[in-house]
Amino acid sequence: MSSKKPKTRASRLERLGLRSDMDFVLHLPMRYEDETRVVPIREAQFMTGSAQVEGVVMSSGIQYRPRRQLVVSIADETGELFLRFLHFYASQLKQLAVGSRVRVRGELRQGFFGGEMVHPAYRVVAEGTPLPAALTPVYPSTEGISQTQLRKEIAAAMARVNLQDTLPDTLLMHLNLPVFADAIRLLHNPPPDVDEHALAERTHPAWQRVKFDELLAQQLSMKRAHTRRRQQIAPQLSASGDVTRGLLEALPFILTAEQSRVVAEISESMQKPYPMQRLLQGDVGSGKTVVAAMAAAQAIDSGTQVAMMAPTEILADQHFQRVAEWMAPLGVDVAWLTGGMKKKDRQSVLSRIASGKARLVIGTHALIQDEVHFDSLGLVIVDEQHRFGVGQRLMLRNKGESGHDSVPHQLMMSATPIPRTLAMTYYADLDVSVINELPPGRTPVITRLIDRNRRDEVIKRIHAAALSGRQIYWVCPLIEESETLQLQTAVETHAALKEALPDLNVGLVHGRLRQAEKQAVMDAFAGGEIHLLVATTVIEVGVDVPNASLMIIEHAERFGLSQLHQLRGRVGRGDAESICLLLYQAPLGETAKQRLMTMRETSDGFAIARRDLEIRGPGEFLGARQSGVAMLRFADLQKDADLIEASQDMAQALLDEPGEAAQAIVESHLNRWLGGFEDFLKA
Ligand code: ADP
Ligand code: MG
Repeated sequence: MSSKKPKTRASRLERLGLRSDMDFVLHLPMRYEDETRVVPIREAQFMTGSAQVEGVVMSSGIQYRPRRQLVVSIADETGELFLRFLHFYASQLKQLAVGSRVRVRGELRQGFFGGEMVHPAYRVVAEGTPLPAALTPVYPSTEGISQTQLRKEIAAAMARVNLQDTLPDTLLMHLNLPVFADAIRLLHNPPPDVDEHALAERTHPAWQRVKFDELLAQQLSMKRAHTRRRQQIAPQLSASGDVTRGLLEALPFILTAEQSRVVAEISESMQKPYPMQRLLQGDVGSGKTVVAAMAAAQAIDSGTQVAMMAPTEILADQHFQRVAEWMAPLGVDVAWLTGGMKKKDRQSVLSRIASGKARLVIGTHALIQDEVHFDSLGLVIVDEQHRFGVGQRLMLRNKGESGHDSVPHQLMMSATPIPRTLAMTYYADLDVSVINELPPGRTPVITRLIDRNRRDEVIKRIHAAALSGRQIYWVCPLIEESETLQLQTAVETHAALKEALPDLNVGLVHGRLRQAEKQAVMDAFAGGEIHLLVATTVIEVGVDVPNASLMIIEHAERFGLSQLHQLRGRVGRGDAESICLLLYQAPLGETAKQRLMTMRETSDGFAIARRDLEIRGPGEFLGARQSGVAMLRFADLQKDADLIEASQDMAQALLDEPGEAAQAIVESHLNRWLGGFEDFLKA
């Protein structure tokens, strides 16, 4: 029994991420309690928040009405106070016997019989026990680990560990930051005269130092990953050839200046002998697909194969149709691969890929399955990259390595604009290209919020709109708990709308349809045969039907901000003025209201992403659960933009500085902050 105990404790501590001494040292308080003062009981009555008082127990006993509880009265020279404990142990009865002196912390409120505290924190003390000189830290903890235990472990670790600074004085002076050891000691053990507000707000120089260090470690490790990648070998893809030129001519439009600029950036990095790793960002509808096609053309011109992966079958199919239409006439064999294919078709596609006959392969996750072998993969393109995990992206990239030393170039695309501070931290190891304008002729989408009880009115308007030649999406509510329920709603909505609009052609698309069925519906919609398309969120990303100009989203309050932005981005792609109606169910919660108002106010993807980041935090925003990005524990991407910038500059300066001194700083700093985990983080 006793041999088991340490193990459970260790595993509990591990749950808090506490293994090494440095883990404990960097386990910093989430807040502080002020136990440095004792106030007279009489005064505590007039204080808001919690107060600490000290008194002698006058009476103590179990009361049974209205329910069983331990009631203790204490008194000092100024007054009396009741303490109530609804849960208590027999030992507490003894501890709190008449005559004991106790120090009590809690919120004092007025009960029936005068001032009382319910479940206060307390400690039996001898008369004259000195008060702590510093604020008392409160640490993030977990069940079964007490604050006292944590404090003890941390103090022990502090005594053992080397707190020597990783950064030289001159740099710290330049940045106006305190030395590491002082900062850490202050945070664990703030002196009585500390600026409590700055401590709570984490603007205190000690906090600034810790955050700076954390950010610096992140920057260093990202930049090193970047450098390491430059030591890998990739096929050098020559700038242009017949396919590239032919594609430019085949396009039904001319590239915008922004698209051309980005195409050139990509082209240049693919001519290098090391693998490109580039994120192509551009708001919904900015025209990323054609940029990807241009990159693919360059790779094909150089004799390598290209893999392009999209998160949904609908999107993969759309890319395939579009790109094949452009490239097949140029003699390029374009293949398409998804999970839902018939076995025979699949086999023949696989052999075309393996033999190198298929030059461009477009598909879903099916592309990363074991049985897919490329002959010479030179470029991988991942569309809507945030929909994939790091592991999946890596698997696609690794498809190029069988039998070759060379690593393919990688182009990732995302319509989720990444706010600058996020890009500077989590994507610091990537090259980023941004398309900053939409193709010409787009009119902004008008967005209206409409109460769901006006749904009938909306249906009437749809009718008129459809008859005047518009095509319409009707997106059914998201039902998080159950896909089946979501499906059912879509089927019912489809039936109801069909009945309400008998002279319109109403289509339905959802994730459970077989691939051929999905394809048929999407083709009919793209071809203008379907007036109104009822859909689940399967159409959220990528779908491009320029003639569709009206978007209705039912129960819009259930969707996240970037989801709404993506959905709205399905319209406003053609010449017609587009409208997006967000039907909501009143009453709205506060965040839902904020989201909908943001949607109404702006169509700027960056502004929306910033709001989304504020509302959700970086973890969820990035989809960290699947991507495995290490979260910043202390730095705040919104509040600490200055520190992010400073840490980036410093990281660059340290890595650029020749000589062993700078190298040693980098090593010791990374070692302190990441321990042996650097590679793990970047895996
Ligand atoms: P996204 O960036 O959201 O992936 P798409 O690549 O789907 O955007 O492009 C959106 C629409 O804009 C498509 O219909 C595409 O054909 C069109 N488009 C792209 N580039 C241009 C351009 N330079 N001029 C006109 N239309 C363009
Ligand atoms: Mg797209």
